[in-house]
Order: sequence, then C-alpha cells, then structure tokens
Amino acid sequence: MYKEKGLLIVLSGPSGVGKGTVCKALREQKKEILYSVSATTRNPRPGEEHGVHYFFKSKEEFEQMIEKNELLEWAEYVGNYYGTPLGYVQNSINEGKDVILEIEVQGAMQVQKNFPEAIFIFLAPPSLSELRNRLTTRGTETEDIINHRIQVAKEEMDMMDSYDYVVENDSVLAACERIHAIVVAEHCKRSRIQKKYKQILTEVED
Ligand code: 5GP
Repeated sequence: MYKEKGLLIVLSGPSGVGKGTVCKALREQKKEILYSVSATTRNPRPGEEHGVHYFFKSKEEFEQMIEKNELLEWAEYVGNYYGTPLGYVQNSINEGKDVILEIEVQGAMQVQKNFPEAIFIFLAPPSLSELRNRLTTRGTETEDIINHRIQVAKEEMDMMDSYDYVVENDSVLAACERIHAIVVAEHCKRSRIQKKYKQILTEVED
C-alpha cells in the first residue's frame, strides 16, 4: 500500500527577520502543518512552556542528545545550544504529515547535508523593499548609515544562495500565505506525483 511521505519544510533566514512571528502565525492558521519543537539550553522566557515553545534542557542533557545522534541538526547561537529532535520529524514524515522547522541559518545548512529532499525557504527582511526608497530619499539618512544598510543587505542576501524559495516578510499574513502556497505547490510536483502513481500502478498489476 503506497503511503506518501510528508514534507520537511525549513524556514530560516537572518536573525531578527521575524521567523518566529511568521512561524507562530502559520502554526495557528495552518494546523495541518506540524511544528517541530526544538531543544534549547537557553532559559525559558515569561510565558514559554516546556514542550510547547521549546524542550528546555541543561547543557549536559543537550550534549547527550548530540552524542546519541538524537538531533537532526543543532547549532550554538548567542551562547546557547538549539537543535531539532530527530524522532518527531522522522515519525511525522513517515506518517505522511508535513513538518516545519524554524531554525537559524547554520542549522539549515546542516539539514541540507542530512536531509537534502527538504524544502528550504529563506525569509527575507522586509526592509529590503524599502531600501531602494530610503536610498533615493535624499537627506533622510547619512552616507554612513546608507553604506552600512547596503552592506547588511548584501550579507543577508548572500545567505539565500542555498535556498529553494525566498519569501519576503513584508507582512506576516502575506508571508504565511506564500509559505502555504509553496507547500501546496510542492505537493503537486511531478516527481512526487509520478512516484506515487507508478507505485499505485505496480500494486494494481500485482
Ligand atoms: P530564540 O532564543 O529567540 O527563541 O531563538 C534564537 C534563534 O534560534 C532563532 O533564530 C531561531 O530560529 C533559532 N532556533 C530555534 N530553534 C532552533 C533549532 O532547533 N535549531 C537551530 N539551528 N536554530 C534554532
């Protein structure tokens, strides 16, 4: 019996781009996309719950997870460990469910090595669309600030090279819609559909 696998969707991008906000909105709106809860060694913030926002771990516990190969990817970010528990992702995908990871860029690069069939979405900063306007609005910014902004924008944009899709975070709602559209389109990809039909046809012939 053919069982279609779920998609692994990796949402990543520069720090401060709004990955968390977009992912939270997507989680509320598109309940059929499962969210992978990460493990972290950072302290919980007010309102954050263990198992909902993160699995809060000690450094020792996290290092054990690394040793036992229980993480799909992990990274050290601003003095703390963050990582994706492998079991949940594997089980959900095998059950045909789509899973989204909201992770920083180093982790996304690891997923590319370990799970190249994942879909990589780069969330781009909203300020980019405004950058040109701001640059052409004479007198509002000093030359130093403009040069700095261009430099930051270039560095951020260089990161997108290894991603399949780019979604600009101009509004949370619009970004969610685009991500959902990508997921729908990925499910319609010929390579996926063809594999499914070939398999079904062999089952009918048997
Ligand atoms: P925060 O501490 O603000 O919740 O998250 C800090 C950064 O860690 C964010 O950029 C977030 O996307 C990233 N992050 C959260 N979970 C993971 C994870 O499992 N793996 C990696 N590599 N990054 C993560």
